[in-house]
Amino acid sequence: MAENPSVAVIGGGLAGLATALALGSAGYPVTVYEARPFLGGRATSYPVTDAGGDAVTIDNCQHILLRCCTNLIDFYQRLGVSDRIHFYREFYWIEPGGRMSVMKRGRLPAPLHFTGSFTTLRFLSPADKIGVASGLLAVKYEYGKRADLDRITMADWLREKKQTPRAVERFWRQVLVSAVNEDLDRMAAAHGLQVFYLGFLANSQSYEMGVPSVPLASLYSAEVWARYEYVKFAYRSAVQQIQIENGHVHSATTSDSPIKANAYVLAVPFERVSTLAPELPLDLSAFSHSPITGIHLWFDRSVTDLPHATLLDRTIQWMYNKQDGRHLQLVVSASRTLTEMPRGEVIEMALKELSEFFPKIAQAKLERAHVVKEIRATFSAVPGLEAKRPPQTTAFSNLFLAGDWTRTGWPATMEGAVRSGYLAAEAVLKRFGTQQKFLLPDVG
Ligand SMILES: Cc1cc2nc3c(=O)[nH]c(=O)nc-3n(C[C@H](O)[C@H](O)[C@H](O)COP(=O)(O)OP(=O)(O)OC[C@H]3O[C@@H](n4cnc5c(N)ncnc54)[C@H](O)[C@@H]3O)c2cc1C
Repeated sequence: MAENPSVAVIGGGLAGLATALALGSAGYPVTVYEARPFLGGRATSYPVTDAGGDAVTIDNCQHILLRCCTNLIDFYQRLGVSDRIHFYREFYWIEPGGRMSVMKRGRLPAPLHFTGSFTTLRFLSPADKIGVASGLLAVKYEYGKRADLDRITMADWLREKKQTPRAVERFWRQVLVSAVNEDLDRMAAAHGLQVFYLGFLANSQSYEMGVPSVPLASLYSAEVWARYEYVKFAYRSAVQQIQIENGHVHSATTSDSPIKANAYVLAVPFERVSTLAPELPLDLSAFSHSPITGIHLWFDRSVTDLPHATLLDRTIQWMYNKQDGRHLQLVVSASRTLTEMPRGEVIEMALKELSEFFPKIAQAKLERAHVVKEIRATFSAVPGLEAKRPPQTTAFSNLFLAGDWTRTGWPATMEGAVRSGYLAAEAVLKRFGTQQKFLLPDVG
């Protein structure tokens, strides 16, 4: 039997890996060229030694998913690692001073499944809650129907819906800044509504939060890929340039070898594309970055029993308990205020804020700390960007794009990256005359 055409995937982040998985499962020989010595791109883990003591493996930043991430969950299932994602049904909201509220589904069907716990939330007043409830009703009716949602910001939309300042700060902002990695006054309302529609309203399970129980890189280890005989990896293989001749990619080069394949999928971040393929007619001027800061703290004793919590009214937005309440990972999304702050000050600020939520911190000794500032964490999901996100096909017949920034309909997330990879794989197969679907629809 003749072998299927070969595909070179450039970039071993989730977009490239999803492309490779889909094509490999269809029997197409794929080689993934990854610049770094490990896979996962922006969703990965590595050992750090600079934190004092022995080397310890950390995620570059805590990555979480919701059950509405249908394609990411499918990707984990196909890799055989879905049992390494632990799903939580409770969300813990803590106010400075330590007062806690828990949000979880009750017995009523969607979209009323939160009604019971929502009424008990202590960080919102009755007036705030009435406003939020009417806002959520508006999400249900406007998402996917209202034409201007990509032209206005989420802050505009919340003003239009007359949300109280406290509901904006403690409810809408608290959920959305982390989910979309952008401030409300910069984020397109389309993405804000999408998060609440798919995550909170579409069905009663879709809000459940998945947290990997292993370091991120072990979700895509060599052992995991063993079942995909058609997929090969070339590590430390930074592609330098793609050679285009007569409207067609002829070859590509790494620093030490040429690459020849029948099709090429460029699965690198948007800022790398014009260097690798300067001939591509893409206007990426509307794209910019939004940063995320992750802070790891290790204490000499347990400071909390909670698995995770969202922290209100402060810089730190989320706490994840990585081990026994002693190793905490804190996350600040859209962290522009921290990018210039020296690491020592970031740690000091984190300790000060945490002690307002977890009183045991006062007795605990900080044993080590590590700060990861991802300045180019994600693209900024500003109004007007959706129409400028390119599709996975390009002006060149055997060149395709994947990446969280391409046209997926999702903000920059692992789900968006996997979607782009599945769509790129579908486009590659179409080019070779085969129709096969990989993309799963949104939850409904
Ligand atoms: C700090 C942080 C926290 C986040 N938290 C979450 C979260 O909780 N939930 C969520 O869903 N998403 C989260 N995200 C977003 C998510 O990580 C990304 O959307 C997703 O991983 C992007 O995948 P990608 O494959 O499109 O790009 P990338 O992961 O950037 O992959 C691109 C790959 O291409 C490689 N590459 C670049 N140039 C070359 C070259 N010339 N040759 C070969 N290889 C090259 C890179 O090394 C990289 O491995 C977070 C991101 C960050 C940074």
